[in-house]
Amino acid sequence: MANINKTSGNALRAQVAGAGFAGLTAAIALRQNGWDVTLHERDSELRAFGAGIYLWHNGLRVLEAVGALDDVLLGSHTPPTYETWMQNKSVSKETFNGLPWRIMTRRHLHNALVKRAKEVGVEIRVNSEAVAADADGRLTLQTGEVLEGDLIVGADGVGSKVRDSLGFEQDRWVSTDGIIRLIVPRKKEELGDGEWDNTIDMWNFEPRVQRILYSPCNKDELYLGLMAPAADPRGSRVPLDLEVWVEMFPFLEPCLSEAAKLESARYDKYATTKLDSWVKGKVALVGDAAHAMCPALAQGAGCAMVNAFSLSQDLAEQNSVEDALSSWENRIRPITDRCQALSGEYAANRSLSRGNMFTPAALEAARYDPIRRVYSWPQ
Ligand SMILES: Cc1cc2nc3c(=O)[nH]c(=O)nc-3n(C[C@H](O)[C@H](O)[C@H](O)COP(=O)(O)OP(=O)(O)OC[C@H]3O[C@@H](n4cnc5c(N)ncnc54)[C@H](O)[C@@H]3O)c2cc1C
Repeated sequence: MANINKTSGNALRAQVAGAGFAGLTAAIALRQNGWDVTLHERDSELRAFGAGIYLWHNGLRVLEAVGALDDVLLGSHTPPTYETWMQNKSVSKETFNGLPWRIMTRRHLHNALVKRAKEVGVEIRVNSEAVAADADGRLTLQTGEVLEGDLIVGADGVGSKVRDSLGFEQDRWVSTDGIIRLIVPRKKEELGDGEWDNTIDMWNFEPRVQRILYSPCNKDELYLGLMAPAADPRGSRVPLDLEVWVEMFPFLEPCLSEAAKLESARYDKYATTKLDSWVKGKVALVGDAAHAMCPALAQGAGCAMVNAFSLSQDLAEQNSVEDALSSWENRIRPITDRCQALSGEYAANRSLSRGNMFTPAALEAARYDPIRRVYSWPQ
């Protein structure tokens, strides 16, 4: 532990708002460095929202550092290639020069992080909604309770109350395309001939813009992302308009039929948030609270986890919490900013439809190794 002045003879205390991927990672990493950590979750239970998720080398290295990698690898999947189709014809197959990547259900990743948080002794409180924070290190809960901390972490997602209570300057906007995300049974044997273990990014621009990101998570579960412009009432309809999707992607009918049964399906647009700063006094914002981004490069959670873990590194090395937060933002934020900008550009231009778009620039965040603090891939 570094020379950060302690407010008492006890261990340093962190109050973390939000038990998503960012908050859980921050809580575990701080606890591993000797902090007392209380993690506040607004919901009545700990659960992941959404369907599936891609993690890359950067996020997988964080999982290794926080001791959750083995659990995540078991029951997740690395496809042989990331294939892109246009009008149902293959245009590219990418292997990222061997860069590690993985697909899993969000539930699977979340469970592994919750398990690890409990193992290392994070105190987790559910039904504990944060409504405000101040720069001196106080977190106010919805109940009126005010908690003190040497550090406050706002990891309360895109609608962050911690952030909004502190008056950060922010730009926020949403995309014109959106997505329905679902987990359905694989049904691989019913899909006919094809390389169904691949990720297949299926783009169609004619007669309508509709895309399916086909992502196997494991031998039983398939993550489907069904993208359509918000202006398309049938493509954006939930529960799924089976006819309009099967017409465009008939070979996926067995999986789409399962998807159409899911009453809980949601159509989400992508939010982007850009702040003047991620820190104020003793408060740090991590994850979507700080930098919600379009998912084109599948890096929102990856960057969130890298940033949450990196925060614990700076706190272990600097002389004050304020110095640590400032050095943390200076060193780590540029990678996320570039990723957020390129991901937004890709989403706006539907660039991934061209195939072979995972260029070195597009993979910059993915190639970052937060443990060694270098771009370690390819070696
Ligand atoms: C369509 C789509 C696909 C994506 N795909 C990928 C992908 O493949 N790979 C990737 O890396 N990223 C992906 N992302 C981005 C990723 O989902 C997010 O960046 C990531 O989940 C953010 O995690 P978080 O912990 O910051 O926020 P959240 O996941 O939103 O978690 C916030 C947590 O805080 C809780 N909370 C909220 N308010 C309060 C409060 N006031 N007090 C206490 N608790 C509170 C919430 O209940 C929740 O548990 C995708 C995003 C979208 C929209």
